[in-house]
Amino acid sequence: MEHTSAQSNIVTRFAPSPTGYLTLGNYRTALFSYLFAKQHKGKCILRIEDTDKERSKPEYEQDIYKSAAWLGISFDETYKQSERTKEHEEYLQKLIDTGHAYISKETEVKEGGRSEVIRFKNPNKKVTFTDLIRGDITFDTTDLKDFVIAKSMTEPLFHLAVVVDDADMGITHIVRGDDHISNTPRQILIQEALGFQIPTYAHLPLMLAPDRSKLSKRNGAISIKEIREKGYLPEAVINLLALLGWNPGTDKEIYSLDELLKDFDISRTQKGGAIFNEEKLNWFNKEYLKMLPEDKKQEIIRKFVDTSIIDEYALKRASEVIFERIETTEDMSKAFKSGEFSYLNKEIEYATEMLLWKKEPSYEKTSERLSAVAILLMEMPEEPTRDEVKNIVWDFAEQEGRGEVLWPLRVALSGKDKSPDPFMLLEILGKNVSLKRIQAAILKLHA
Ligand code: GLU
Repeated sequence: MEHTSAQSNIVTRFAPSPTGYLTLGNYRTALFSYLFAKQHKGKCILRIEDTDKERSKPEYEQDIYKSAAWLGISFDETYKQSERTKEHEEYLQKLIDTGHAYISKETEVKEGGRSEVIRFKNPNKKVTFTDLIRGDITFDTTDLKDFVIAKSMTEPLFHLAVVVDDADMGITHIVRGDDHISNTPRQILIQEALGFQIPTYAHLPLMLAPDRSKLSKRNGAISIKEIREKGYLPEAVINLLALLGWNPGTDKEIYSLDELLKDFDISRTQKGGAIFNEEKLNWFNKEYLKMLPEDKKQEIIRKFVDTSIIDEYALKRASEVIFERIETTEDMSKAFKSGEFSYLNKEIEYATEMLLWKKEPSYEKTSERLSAVAILLMEMPEEPTRDEVKNIVWDFAEQEGRGEVLWPLRVALSGKDKSPDPFMLLEILGKNVSLKRIQAAILKLHA
């Protein structure tokens, strides 16, 4: 049975089990389901598969709502599988009534096992289904034997519940992980037995670590909860997820959710494993941080950095240099703690010798040059731009020697042997603080 993406009224679903905090891999499935449905003006349904009473936890379920909303993935309808046991039982009974399933007395009862279960009567045939990513797939179901579909009349198992729910909810396209491929023939047998339409499938490639090993907690099976709490931007996460398995076939890498809705094409998803790489996530995060409007940047800095010792004027002008140097908000906290941005502080401290350019050991000459620069810089506006100050200082620096002039100027302004160039510093610090710092440096040289 063939369905193509030209079909109207497309309905997809995301069907997570709330048995742990969902990972990046789970939300890639959610994103692909969502994009595919929305591109075709269809619906995307959230179904919480919470029938495992012991392992399903309300906090995991709550986190699914929260993380999806954070990512900007919204669902048209939400169901909980545990509230649908009546429907599951009804169809189980139907399967028995029509001879497609039977109560089976178990001869070899393992410890804790049942003496009676309900098995599906396998017609032992070849099943072929259409996968949007992998093409047609054929399985011989003979090996599956008469598989168990319920522990009892009131305890249907996974395959039956999924099939009944998918049919009741009118799911036309099932987008899910590769790990479910081997479940598909069983589910199709049940669909056929119940006379349901066979949906179209799209099995997404497994997510792998950079060394192509299975993802583990340490290398990428990270929960979105952790990612959210670490301060990553949802836009960066969405962009990364989209490119895990899909690529537009061009060099374009930055995709907003809106752009994905236009350009995403599930049939271009690769079959082979999709490599997750934390560096790539960090790269996207940096790109999106840089694109934020200034007020948002300021908000983020103030959230992740102790700004009480920082000069307010400087901080307002420093976002460009800050966001150029970090990839995550975690990096930002660390960089500030390590003193990388100490030139933004209200007070700076440094050893006087640092003011001496390596080819100019004279305190006297260094002080004279700084004084000359200070006099030139009196001309600068209160809130100078780096180009303005460069124009003021440049000729003098060329004439005296760039290192001889610009090194002590930079150290006087930053108190550091590594920092942005002095023109940038002058722009960030402004006239008032800059002139005070140059004055202080001259005094230090004479002390
Ligand atoms: N609840 C299943 C899981 O979390 C998904 C079932 C499906 O997508 O068919 O792996």
